[in-house]
Amino acid sequence: MMTMKHIPVTFWAIVAAIFGLILGSFLNVVIYRIPNNLSLAKPRSFCPNCKTPIKAYDNIPIISWFILRGSCRNCKSSISFQYPLVELSTGALFFTIVYFIKPISVTPAICVLAAAIVSTSVIDLKYMKLPTKILYPTLILGGILLAVASYQTHDFKRMLTALIVGLIAAALLFLFFMILPPGSIGLGDVRLIAIQSFFLGWFGWKFAILGFALGIVVGGFLTLGLLAFGVKKMKDKIPFGPFLSIGALASAYMTLAFPVWVK
Ligand SMILES: [Zn+2]
Repeated sequence: MMTMKHIPVTFWAIVAAIFGLILGSFLNVVIYRIPNNLSLAKPRSFCPNCKTPIKAYDNIPIISWFILRGSCRNCKSSISFQYPLVELSTGALFFTIVYFIKPISVTPAICVLAAAIVSTSVIDLKYMKLPTKILYPTLILGGILLAVASYQTHDFKRMLTALIVGLIAAALLFLFFMILPPGSIGLGDVRLIAIQSFFLGWFGWKFAILGFALGIVVGGFLTLGLLAFGVKKMKDKIPFGPFLSIGALASAYMTLAFPVWVK
């Protein structure tokens, strides 16, 4: 008899990839509407330029953008490459998360983290903010899925570690926020790191620290590079959320390289 256990991981990874592509399409809506305080529920997707509703057959992830060669069917104004890029990134992340990260029961939670990371990174780059309207639902949904993963693996110590690591990260970062000069660290970054630490803490506290450290290193080098080449000046604000997110995602994949750390 065919049971869930006999279905190869490749199948689940492909299902996750398709789901990721469709969700990526919705994330584009989130990226446009949340910072502009628009409703996610209605109206249906429309062209940002001429406001014409987008027909279902013109709203197929990635494919539609290429068929229409990156322009609106009605007004021909160009549609940003961000749209297929967000869809492709979400699909690719979902595929690799389900395919590589172990145990498979934790992968739905990590996919939720990845979706939050894609949407908040684009929003942070475009608007310099990390909306709580994305971060808090991520925390709640992620918390439920991590608890389910603990139940499935009969390992509630992981859930406890995740909670402790998340709380310590939140407390420490909030302390930094209070004592460091204003503008050094935003409250959005505090929330983002605490939530990422909570997810990574499920694998073990070392991964939370690794993710944070990688984010600081990547962000630090890129900031120095931007300053050195005169792209940014010292007084410019540089969004740090995307770097922290790259670090957190890299750390989740690092659980493969350091399985002994996964406690
Ligand atoms: Zn249009």
